[in-house]
Amino acid sequence: MIADQQLSDHFSLYELTQTTQADLQELNRTLTDELIEKGRQLAKNDDPLQGLECARALVIAAGGTCLFTNSAYRCPKVNGGSPGSSSTSQHVSFEAFDGHVPNQTIDETFLILLTAARAGKFKFGQLIIESADRGYKSADGTEAISRWVHFSLIGTLNPAHVGQVMKATWNAGAAKFDYVRIDQIKFA
Ligand SMILES: [Zn+2]
Repeated sequence: MIADQQLSDHFSLYELTQTTQADLQELNRTLTDELIEKGRQLAKNDDPLQGLECARALVIAAGGTCLFTNSAYRCPKVNGGSPGSSSTSQHVSFEAFDGHVPNQTIDETFLILLTAARAGKFKFGQLIIESADRGYKSADGTEAISRWVHFSLIGTLNPAHVGQVMKATWNAGAAKFDYVRIDQIKFA
């Protein structure tokens, strides 16, 4: 397991590699230099309109306290234990983020990011409201978080999927997410 380090001003490696699967925590922090560099790009992207620092600035400008991480990097084994995650999930390549803003509803945070994207102030691979039980907790650890905002870098995403805006609801009976397409933004 590697030591913690800051990946950008407001995001650390341990924050972005935490998992609710305690027995896999050490494995999920066993990273190559290449993956750590990808984490750095997720936190603060070379494109100032992508990544976590950009999103954080947007939610804070709208009154948010912070951009709290539920899950970002997931090694294949951790990802395999996350209900509904596909093996090609951008979480596996350290390009995706699940989180929330403690003093905003998920819908508010989602709308802030979507509105910014439509105004040319934020870019993403996919922006999704997801809901499921993955054991995520609030910033103070007391409240179960069953809805969150997912967004990713454009990164290695299939170009046909870039700009997709969706809501995904966990369908327990079918053990999969049901997706509702809201929009697909064409980035300049
Ligand atoms: Zn996600």
